[in-house]
Amino acid sequence: MILDDVTRITPSAQHPMTRSWRVGAAAVAMLAAQVLLGCQPSPGATTPGAPTGPGPALTPYIEAHTHFDGDATAAVQAAVAGMTRQNAAMILFQIPPDTFDHPGHYDAEVVLDAAKQYPGKIAVLGGGGTLNAMIMQSVATGDAGPGVQQAFKARAEELLGEGVIGFGEMTAEHYSGGTPYQYAPADHPLYLLLADIAAAHGVPIDLHMEAVPEDMAVPAGVKSPPNPPRLRANIAAFERLLAHNPGAKIIWAHAGSDGTGYRTPALCRRLLLAHPNLYMEIKTDPHAVGMNYPLADGKIKPDWRALFVELPDRFVLGSDQHYPEPKGPDQRWQEIVMLFNQLPPDVRKKIGTDNIAHIYGAGVASRLSAANP
Ligand SMILES: [Zn+2]
Repeated sequence: MILDDVTRITPSAQHPMTRSWRVGAAAVAMLAAQVLLGCQPSPGATTPGAPTGPGPALTPYIEAHTHFDGDATAAVQAAVAGMTRQNAAMILFQIPPDTFDHPGHYDAEVVLDAAKQYPGKIAVLGGGGTLNAMIMQSVATGDAGPGVQQAFKARAEELLGEGVIGFGEMTAEHYSGGTPYQYAPADHPLYLLLADIAAAHGVPIDLHMEAVPEDMAVPAGVKSPPNPPRLRANIAAFERLLAHNPGAKIIWAHAGSDGTGYRTPALCRRLLLAHPNLYMEIKTDPHAVGMNYPLADGKIKPDWRALFVELPDRFVLGSDQHYPEPKGPDQRWQEIVMLFNQLPPDVRKKIGTDNIAHIYGAGVASRLSAANP
């Protein structure tokens, strides 16, 4: 499979920060699993009798993690059109975590005007193309001094002023793909600062981070270079970030899409129990099932199901769907809806909608209820 899905992005309105846009960060997670697993098809998609199909969800849900390719206005319109098919009450777009060195980097300005045409249906997290890039730049230069911190805070507040509802997609460990390989300590001074900004404004941070409990060789099948031969331990640093400001809600993206083998239900449970400000997005990609996949033959595995039922207040759905939907069967939203539909109704209500209202606060909740009475 050709993985270079770098696509031109057209801003919904020209902005001085944004000139040339390319996307493909979500392909990075795909890449990791694809190189590991050789593009295995979804188990659910290939097993006769398994509960596959186009959806929709049995009860409404909010899709908390998506990306867009190409023209931002057309992508927003495609997402709005998709909401009915999916039974989605709202769709959140995120900006790929990127670096300033990568010519394709862009941020929320390219899509905010289009998103604002659909209040209560479409909202945007920002910072992937700038705040994340500032962190990567700080890691490279070693400068996290007062000047850097001041510029970082100003940019974060600028994004909030423009209307983003959270900071994402950020990263601390991200394989190379549509964007370059990226690493930052999860307790980097700018991440601690971002936690303080997020807490002060009541918005969450959405973090992509492959799970690395101890320093390790990059998993077999993850190409090196461009990825480094070894990955640095990050769970202890992640816990320091979580503990730094308990008022900062942090969403660890991509539970169920594991590129190291360590994002187990047991690790997720331990961290959720230890850190009340931690939430997780569930991702299931039928084209890149990765390790510790939550589904087998289209059914939720017992250990994952037990975790979702035990801690129903701590998960949301974030499939990493791209809009417009790529050609072909087995969209990521279909796989996550297949999982969602197997949960008990009370758990579905929390994971589907209630937790988003709690994480994102009254602004999102009121817009949501106004748009979806
Ligand atoms: Zn991601």
